[in-house]
Amino acid sequence: MAKYHLQLAHFYGDLMNTYGDIGNITALKYYAKQMDTDIHAEVISMGDDFAADKFDLSLFGGGQDYEQMVISKDIQDKKEQMIEYIEDNKPFLAICGGYQLLGHYYIGADGERIPGIGALDHYTLSQDHHRFIGNIVIENQKLGKLHGFENHNGRTFLGKSEKPLGIVLSGHGNNGEDKTEGAIYKSTYCSYFHGPILTRNGEIAKEMLLMALHNKYPEEDFSQQAALEIKPTF
Ligand code: GLN
Repeated sequence: MAKYHLQLAHFYGDLMNTYGDIGNITALKYYAKQMDTDIHAEVISMGDDFAADKFDLSLFGGGQDYEQMVISKDIQDKKEQMIEYIEDNKPFLAICGGYQLLGHYYIGADGERIPGIGALDHYTLSQDHHRFIGNIVIENQKLGKLHGFENHNGRTFLGKSEKPLGIVLSGHGNNGEDKTEGAIYKSTYCSYFHGPILTRNGEIAKEMLLMALHNKYPEEDFSQQAALEIKPTF
């Protein structure tokens, strides 16, 4: 039995799972185990309630424009609690389509406007008959080089309150123009990286887990957990 327990909300896990983004949960569980922690994941999907105070970690994977359009209506009912969760500095990982839906809107490949929840200050435009596809490497100031695979129509532009997850060394990133990739706001990490991102970049999993543990168990000393060594997997 692990000493610590974390609850994870898997937003629309039945609809948004491009390139096995669910593997991010496997990676979180793998590293959590080494931190004497277990994780219980729950899918929060269409029509489900989401209560921010019940969860310590969140994941929202990527998907197709069609699913995003369907979700964009349902997610408005969860908007308030999702914003509360994010503002409380709880770790959230949003990939590709999930990343786009945390922002203001995404103009889909057919020109349709897909509203997000505006929890983060970015917006996403489309590109004509083109997608950004391929391997990508970025540099994050604290974590170093991060590796992934991107496949998106959307071109995302960050707001003032967000920082990029990293600067593009090779590949396209947020929009193919400004060399940014992904976004960080409080403990919310957004990225276009599939792979899944946490299996290839365990340092991000470690950051998320440490923050979740500190939030849930503020009196505990997690220096041992913080010393966990992440070995590169690529
Ligand atoms: N449908 C979105 C786009 O094409 C997101 C894609 C994804 O999640 N992989 O930009």
